[in-house]
Amino acid sequence: MGPPLADATYNQRMSTIRLFYALWPSPPLAASLAGWAEAAKPAMGGRAMRTETLHLTLAFLGPVDSALADELAAATPERRLTPGDVRLDRFGVFHRQRILWAGPAETPPGLQQAHDDLWQWLSGYGLTPPTQPFRPHVTLLRNITHAAPPADAPAPLDWHYDRMVLVASESLTGGSRYRIVAQSRPLVG
Ligand code: ATP
Ligand code: MG
Repeated sequence: MGPPLADATYNQRMSTIRLFYALWPSPPLAASLAGWAEAAKPAMGGRAMRTETLHLTLAFLGPVDSALADELAAATPERRLTPGDVRLDRFGVFHRQRILWAGPAETPPGLQQAHDDLWQWLSGYGLTPPTQPFRPHVTLLRNITHAAPPADAPAPLDWHYDRMVLVASESLTGGSRYRIVAQSRPLVG
């Protein structure tokens, strides 16, 4: 006999994991993005994100049941992300969150499609797509003290992506730590 259902349900509810899918920059691209943060910081204030954690969120899942998290981690290596390009060419600000970000002036159709396809797939797991439009960005500074982003961005950064990663975001005192738990299957190789 297995454990009583009530216990199983209880255990399931006990543990959730905060997950998101992201594009993860190569180390040279991350270094360039860190340069953008450095360039903006004197005027904007705030705190720069660590270079090795810079990313572009494709889908924020929020807390999911650990059983579903395991399922997604197992399924992700079988997923393909259609490769594409995004040019980061501007600074932007999310005022409410007091964030300075780098992003494209316009969302490339291929990236929008990747976002939409991903959410369509995730909805098959019972996850609900966001009602907000997709705003691709890389968070550079948090707790900014200046409202307007710098008018001039450094030289544009061309990002060629061919995979996405599934990341667990673990809350710790003093911030979150990210752990890459799976990545999609690259097209070649
Ligand atoms: P913390 O919230 O603990 O300060 P964090 O924002 O880095 O740290 P998460 O909140 O887990 O960590 O977010 C992970 C990623 O998902 C970040 O890129 C964040 O901007 C993005 N994100 C968080 N919440 C949402 C949301 N509601 N919609 C879209 N993206 C989100
Ligand atoms: Mg957050």
